[in-house]
Amino acid sequence: MKPAAFEYHRARTPAGAVGLLTELGDDAKIIAGGQSLVAMMNFRLARPEHLVDITHVDSLRGIAVSEGEIRIGALTTHREVEKAGLGVLSAAMRWVGHLPIRTRGTVGGSIAHADATAEWCLLAVLFDARIVVEGPSGVREIRASEFFLGPFTTALGPDELITALVFPSPPPRAALTEYADRRGDFALVAAAVDLDADRVVLGGVGAVPTLVSGKWCSGTTYRARAAAAAGSLELRDEPGISAHYRRGLVRTLVERAYEEAANG
Ligand code: FAD
Repeated sequence: MKPAAFEYHRARTPAGAVGLLTELGDDAKIIAGGQSLVAMMNFRLARPEHLVDITHVDSLRGIAVSEGEIRIGALTTHREVEKAGLGVLSAAMRWVGHLPIRTRGTVGGSIAHADATAEWCLLAVLFDARIVVEGPSGVREIRASEFFLGPFTTALGPDELITALVFPSPPPRAALTEYADRRGDFALVAAAVDLDADRVVLGGVGAVPTLVSGKWCSGTTYRARAAAAAGSLELRDEPGISAHYRRGLVRTLVERAYEEAANG
């Protein structure tokens, strides 16, 4: 299918993009890598009348590592992060779709799209990343723990632009692993573990990435922690996947993520 007709606008600066969003109102949408939005437009799940293209806003690109933090520009692609040697952030990128998707799709687009199993959403919640946002009243930061409100729903205002994500540096001992029926698909269940903080975040078990840490005493085995994490969830049978099967996936993936984090 093809998208409904829309008007194209090109932004050159973050303030220019925000100005266009403000001027054009609710019928305008940012387009970055287009890897989610274009499919939604083709299926007529989204029908924006105006697209604001931010791919020419160079200040939104790039990765800056300084003492204590890793700042990733919103337009940085999954593939650029994959090649950047940023520990778990880079390693997790192998799970994002296929190479062409990773080459075009952006970090900011993933966070704004807010799929509850998207790797960036899990990583952001795992480390409570700071999401830097620019809007008509200036720049603000939103903690990932307060950003994801529901399925594909965030705390981002309609005239706000994500400009960057800020993660801790160096990346802690952590790992993300997942299971999908086909390689490159979104995960059925994904598990991310920060070994030092003993935090576990799960995708595919709720409407938003789900933090299930803090329930275990230190010293228990990874297997016992994984079983406790799986046991703590309220899951329902869904078409094509039973709660029992999903719980088993959680148990296996959390244990695997702990082991991968411990083994570097
Ligand atoms: P776009 O598609 O351009 O935009 C997505 C949404 O974000 C739109 O609503 C847009 O308005 C908004 N937006 C974009 N940038 C900004 C910004 N800076 N500020 C505010 N709003 C913004 N993703 C995964 O995480 N894991 C997967 O396994 C996975 N598999 C995929 C498989 C296939 C076959 C396909 C087609 C996609 C897959 N994706 C997957 C999605 C991919 O990662 C996208 O890159 C990502 O979801 C959106 O990034 P984008 O830059 O393409 O955003």
